[in-house]
Amino acid sequence: MGSGPDHHWDDRLLALAEEARSVGRAAAQRCEIQEDSWLIGTSRAFSRELADRGWLGMTWPVEHGGGGRDPLERFVVFEALIAEGAPVATSWVADRQIGPTLLQYGTDEQRRRWLPDIVAGTSAWCIGMSEPDAGSDVASLRTRAVRQNDHWVVDGQKVWTSGAASADWCYLIARTDPDAPPHAGLSEFVVDMRSPGIEVRPIVDATGNAHFCEVHLNGVEVPEDCLVGTEHGSFSQVMRQMEHERGGIDRLVSNHRLYLDVRPRADLTDPLVRQEVAAIESAYRIGRLMVLREVLGQAPRGWSAVTKTWCTEFEQRVATFCGSVVGAEALLWNRVSRNICYAPAYTIMGGTTQILRDIVGDRMLGLPRAAAAR
Ligand SMILES: Cc1cc2nc3c(=O)[nH]c(=O)nc-3n(C[C@H](O)[C@H](O)[C@H](O)COP(=O)(O)OP(=O)(O)OC[C@H]3O[C@@H](n4cnc5c(N)ncnc54)[C@H](O)[C@@H]3O)c2cc1C
Repeated sequence: MGSGPDHHWDDRLLALAEEARSVGRAAAQRCEIQEDSWLIGTSRAFSRELADRGWLGMTWPVEHGGGGRDPLERFVVFEALIAEGAPVATSWVADRQIGPTLLQYGTDEQRRRWLPDIVAGTSAWCIGMSEPDAGSDVASLRTRAVRQNDHWVVDGQKVWTSGAASADWCYLIARTDPDAPPHAGLSEFVVDMRSPGIEVRPIVDATGNAHFCEVHLNGVEVPEDCLVGTEHGSFSQVMRQMEHERGGIDRLVSNHRLYLDVRPRADLTDPLVRQEVAAIESAYRIGRLMVLREVLGQAPRGWSAVTKTWCTEFEQRVATFCGSVVGAEALLWNRVSRNICYAPAYTIMGGTTQILRDIVGDRMLGLPRAAAAR
């Protein structure tokens, strides 16, 4: 965002942020689209560059191959990279949530097996959670995993699986106990995407991009040592994983570069435009404080629902602002129109705003439910 009141980092963080900005800018210039680079900007080569710089697994414990670094260092690096539009998508899901999940719930053997490749930038992961009839309501998912001797057999279908077409591994949730209450019969698996029985069908979205996919699983054999955490205990694990997915800086800066590029064209003599710029700049700083609370471990459990709601509605506001600044030019197919077209996704992916507001009202504030919803 523009200059003005901001955090005062120490020299070490300032230097790191500047380095990341210049690395990010150079990488972004090689990409066709800078917006949403943490989701659609795939590059195996850039993943390896991040690894060479020690920017993957930055905060993970050294004994598990991580960098053991301060969470603020990771924050300034990825804020700069994503805000510039660097293509971090190949490593992002693993760095953001798979690694932390394996650190928390995986066995030592699983950590030894999967973390080194993530830190080396040589593996790409996708998340197989949503299904055609189970998006918001994860508890209703139907993909089945049945134990047979020393492995599980998985049958079912996932949808909207980002990066599935190029992923090496899928972190998959499947029903392992069909007789248990819906929340209680789910388990998590790491599935090799080259396994026989997996078919990936990319879906072209409204902007013409095909980053997300249908994933069909027919009799896929998954070794038993690929079950992560507690058998039938996925629900609490996945709620924890969603906090990593919802509370980070990626949710605030997806279209930051576009804002910076468009803002100089705004007519600041118009009081309404000035007000909107002031509102955007304020909202950005509030969102950043929310993310920083998450980064520093100071946010209450579950608060990422608030952070994600605020930050993604902010990103939609930025898209609208950019459209209003360029006016009729947004009717042409360019970065602004692409972003306007893509922006509704911000408040859907990772949990819709309606669901997140429900979580805040119900579980955090303890508000009474409407009579019709009881
Ligand atoms: C760009 C993008 C990337 C994605 N990537 C992945 C991925 O990598 N892996 C993955 O597993 N999933 C992914 N998703 C899926 C995403 O998590 C789901 O789309 C999301 O959770 C909503 O589920 P749904 O699409 O089934 O909508 P539904 O759950 O069918 O909801 C439809 C509408 O009804 C509303 N609604 C539903 N239930 C309630 C309720 N109880 N109260 C109030 N309103 C309600 C919702 O808010 C929404 O507006 C991605 C989605 C997008 C857009």
